[in-house]
Amino acid sequence: GDAVIERGQPSGIRTVEGVLSSLRPLSPEVMEVGIRTDGALPYHAGQYAQLCFSGYPSRPFSFTHPLSGNPNSRSVWFHVRRMKDGRVTSALGKRIRPGHRVKLTGPYGSAHFRPNLDSRLILVGTNTGFAPIWSIAVAALRENPERRMMIIAGGRTIVSLYMGLALAQLARFPNVLVVPFCSTPQTLSKAVKLGRPTDHLPRLLPTDVLYACGAPGMVDSIKSIAAQIGAVCYADPFLPTTDDTVEDGVLTRAIGWLAVPASRQMGQLARESPPQSAATADAGL
Ligand SMILES: Cc1cc2nc3c(=O)[nH]c(=O)nc-3n(C[C@H](O)[C@H](O)[C@H](O)COP(=O)(O)OP(=O)(O)OC[C@H]3O[C@@H](n4cnc5c(N)ncnc54)[C@H](O)[C@@H]3O)c2cc1C
Repeated sequence: GDAVIERGQPSGIRTVEGVLSSLRPLSPEVMEVGIRTDGALPYHAGQYAQLCFSGYPSRPFSFTHPLSGNPNSRSVWFHVRRMKDGRVTSALGKRIRPGHRVKLTGPYGSAHFRPNLDSRLILVGTNTGFAPIWSIAVAALRENPERRMMIIAGGRTIVSLYMGLALAQLARFPNVLVVPFCSTPQTLSKAVKLGRPTDHLPRLLPTDVLYACGAPGMVDSIKSIAAQIGAVCYADPFLPTTDDTVEDGVLTRAIGWLAVPASRQMGQLARESPPQSAATADAGL
């Protein structure tokens, strides 16, 4: 089968400036992030952007559809999971608040919705892997409200199911089968199935089109199951970022400043204040 692995694509990529306009907790660990941009940033459902909050390193996040209301051409939406000790995500709602400047570069990614097909869609997302899945599901249903579709969404614990309201909206379509899951036993809801996403896949057909977004291990498993059947699988593994460069940022300047011999620093101190910023404080500088 054709497994299409996530890769940046060089054409049509642009950078736009924006401001964090909305920050809404969806669960103890996930925030819905709305950014008002100074210019349009066209993308396909399923693609992602590099977000650079002023003073912080860039991080990739997948465009999504707002959970309530409609998108407009000057706002973009994301679901961001706060990582423990995450340099960027753990600052959301703390040092990064509405009004914070942000630079967006994109769109990237080939695991995006392909229009004008009528094959069955199997959409699988773990945790905020649901962000691109939700975007793809909305795009597919807008094109054809009768498109056959299965959506498998969840995570390790019931807390991962921040997307309950979106799943309820999708489940209203008779042609859409929604399977919420978590891999740890829970007693809160009978609707939430126990197990891993691969436990809940239907019998696949070579004509199925799969999208798998989120935990890299899950994405790999879905890809190899699809390949055995010969079905197309678009994959978007959420890998951690390894490059922590802060472009043109105060942090870079602060590190440069700290590298200057102490005697010069003292002289400079007399003439100017040391750099004070969210980024420097966050990095413990
Ligand atoms: C193509 C792509 C699209 C993505 N889309 C989204 C999205 O829509 N929503 C979203 O919440 N996340 C998404 N991610 C993941 C997101 O980019 C990372 O969670 C984010 O970079 C963490 O940044 P940080 O500075 O807070 O953490 P860091 O300071 O970089 O890392 C803190 C700790 O968390 C670990 N860590 C970081 N990222 C991950 C991860 N993804 N999985 C497991 N451990 C991790 C690190 O190894 C480290 O131990 C996407 C990733 C990719 C590659």
